[in-house]
Amino acid sequence: MLGKLETVFSYAAHFILQSWPEKRPGILFLTDSTGRLINTMNMQVGRPWNPQGLDLSLHAMPAGKASELILKALQTSEIVVEADADALVYAAFPLREQDGHVRAVIGIVAPTVEISFDLASYLRGLEPLIRMGYDAYIQHATSHIIVELSVYETTRELLNSLTRQIQDIIQKGYCSAVCLSEEGTVMMHDMVTTEDAPRGQSHIEQIVAEMGTTPIVASILRENRLVMVPISWNKRMLYALFLHLSPDETDCLFDERDVAFLQEVAEKASSALWRVMMSEDLRREANKKNLLYQLMSKIQASIDVNDVLHEIVTSIPSLYPNYSVELFLTVEPDATTPVKQLSLQEDEGSTSTRAYLEGKLIVENIEENDQRKTVIAAPLLGKQGIYGVLQVTSDQAVSPTRYETDYISILADTAGKAFENAQLYQQSRNLIRELRLINEMARQLNRSLNLSEILEFVTTMMRATFDAEFCAIMRKQTDEEHFQVLASSMPEYAGKLLSASEKPFQQILQNKQTLMLAQPGSGTLPFSLMPSSSLMGVPLVVEGEVSGILLVADPRYHFFSFDDYKLLEIFGQHASLAMTNAVLHNEMERMVITDNLTNLYTRRYLNERVKASLEQDSYGSLILIDIDYFKNVNDTFGHQVGDEVLIQVSNLIRRSIRDSDIAARWGGEELAVYLPRVDKTTAHAVAERIRRCVENETSPRVTISSGLAKWSKEHDSNLSVEALFHQADLALYEAKNSGRNQVVLA
Ligand code: GH3
Ligand code: MG
Ligand code: MG
Repeated sequence: MLGKLETVFSYAAHFILQSWPEKRPGILFLTDSTGRLINTMNMQVGRPWNPQGLDLSLHAMPAGKASELILKALQTSEIVVEADADALVYAAFPLREQDGHVRAVIGIVAPTVEISFDLASYLRGLEPLIRMGYDAYIQHATSHIIVELSVYETTRELLNSLTRQIQDIIQKGYCSAVCLSEEGTVMMHDMVTTEDAPRGQSHIEQIVAEMGTTPIVASILRENRLVMVPISWNKRMLYALFLHLSPDETDCLFDERDVAFLQEVAEKASSALWRVMMSEDLRREANKKNLLYQLMSKIQASIDVNDVLHEIVTSIPSLYPNYSVELFLTVEPDATTPVKQLSLQEDEGSTSTRAYLEGKLIVENIEENDQRKTVIAAPLLGKQGIYGVLQVTSDQAVSPTRYETDYISILADTAGKAFENAQLYQQSRNLIRELRLINEMARQLNRSLNLSEILEFVTTMMRATFDAEFCAIMRKQTDEEHFQVLASSMPEYAGKLLSASEKPFQQILQNKQTLMLAQPGSGTLPFSLMPSSSLMGVPLVVEGEVSGILLVADPRYHFFSFDDYKLLEIFGQHASLAMTNAVLHNEMERMVITDNLTNLYTRRYLNERVKASLEQDSYGSLILIDIDYFKNVNDTFGHQVGDEVLIQVSNLIRRSIRDSDIAARWGGEELAVYLPRVDKTTAHAVAERIRRCVENETSPRVTISSGLAKWSKEHDSNLSVEALFHQADLALYEAKNSGRNQVVLA
């Protein structure tokens, strides 16, 4: 017996009332299997009949004769008719289940006088009517279910409604729907149930697990505790409907009528289910195409490989909810990419490794933790190579359609191309960056031959390029045991001496090659200037010898990339060249402004400095010096000794003046000292000091005569260099004429 008793009763009552002799009073009633009244109905329409002493209140046993009769019917399962003393006749009609169990009693009470016919025969005759009523009910209920199904858009919603409605009518146990493979076997991952149990603990999952690979046919099993019926459309298996009792539900069983009902529903629901499944398939297909399209456009628009990989990893689960996705790359993955590293040694023989090595899509079933799964692995193919593997795993064994594998193939290809593009892009971007830097560096370095400018420029450039916390140019000291910081991103380190035995320096000195160090974990590298976890150094090689080091360091681990390493190397080459040039140039310049014999400045340089001083300063003094009777020295001792005397005098002059004063060789044995911002008195003292030194310390002994001229902005505006020299020259002439070995003021 299916359905709610009251509903079935109302259908049966319809037929009973139709057959009841017209205008006869009477009451039709329904009890449950314990005899309790569930429903009553007046049989003579429009004329309530309520005889005295008859108590038919709901939810209780009727009193007196009625109860006696009902109990008898329940016990015997037979129709019982009896009259009582109050001129009422009672009839009870037990409604039997197929197993003989009485589930309810339909009864009639009527006035004896009105019943001129055999009530028992009448009731027996009613049996087919009640059955018709019941059938009508089932028909109606089934149609109602099917009508309801038409509103659903998704398989899951439809099956939820279907199983709930079936259970409402069956009134026993639970109803579940489980997806079927093409072979008609159950697919555990796709099911809907009315059972209220957490996933993994429901009774139906246990039942389905025990079914294994047996195809589902309509049947009633396990001593009438399990009913299953497949839903198919045009011979294609879709889902199986299950009715199942939980183990603690022992007071009822299923019967053939339940099976028949379920079959009827399955047959009628199949078209609606097929429609929803198809439209869902279509939607999913459309979705996939849409997604592929989006992916393709994304790849064309973006060169960020992370975006693409992210998209792939997140898109698959939304389309295949029961699959998990993994991306394996052959390169070390970036922390922000949702990928793993493909390890060919460790995972030898795994599906992903084989897909990578064979360069083609592989589908296979594997057994993992006692569970059979299907793995689809597709290589990430680019034009120039294979970059990794896209692997999709289902949570049970399935046979993916051509559609699905094609789709995964396309995704993997897309990822491969994206990856390749991104790599090429990155490479070309790095190349451009390098070229730009080198260009800029060469331009700047060529522009300047000034060493300090070069040092500053190289430091700024290193800082901007590598973004490291510390960068420096170090010079090897002549003692070979130290490196000195020439220039640094941290000015407080400038000039600092570091031992050449520190590990990074030692290695660079030894290998004469660029060095890259990284210190994982919390420790730091053996570099005393700054705690660092990443360090690069490139030797500055001049004529095959390490003369210095460009150094960059940062506290962050893995801070420098291989590209940075290559770039620093190029930096090193350019910087050593520029620095060597600058040093050579400095030497040349020094040579141009220095007199070879005396190491004093040249006359040209002296002129320049005097000219600059006349413009910038407010006063200054010039001393012109001529060695007395120098011809005699040459004549007596020879030119060689004459030169030595000239050098002696020059050294004595240099010793007697300050760094800011400029001593020069003005002519053959004529020398000059210019003292910027020095007044006449001081200059005179200096000239006297020099004169005395020469007189006392030369050997062979010589003396000098000096002419001193001074100038000040105040008195000598627009004084020319020549005029100043002329004044000094006149004073010198006077010194010679006044007996030599003396200083004369102009
Ligand atoms: P005085 O200046 O006292 O009048 O006598 P003097 O002998 O020094 O005369 P004068 O200054 O005119 O002579 C310059 C001489 O110095 C001429 C030249 O032989 C000598 N002389 C000039 N330049 C050099 C030089 O570079 N080396 C040597 N050994 N002699 C030089
Ligand atoms: Mg002279
Ligand atoms: Mg002379």
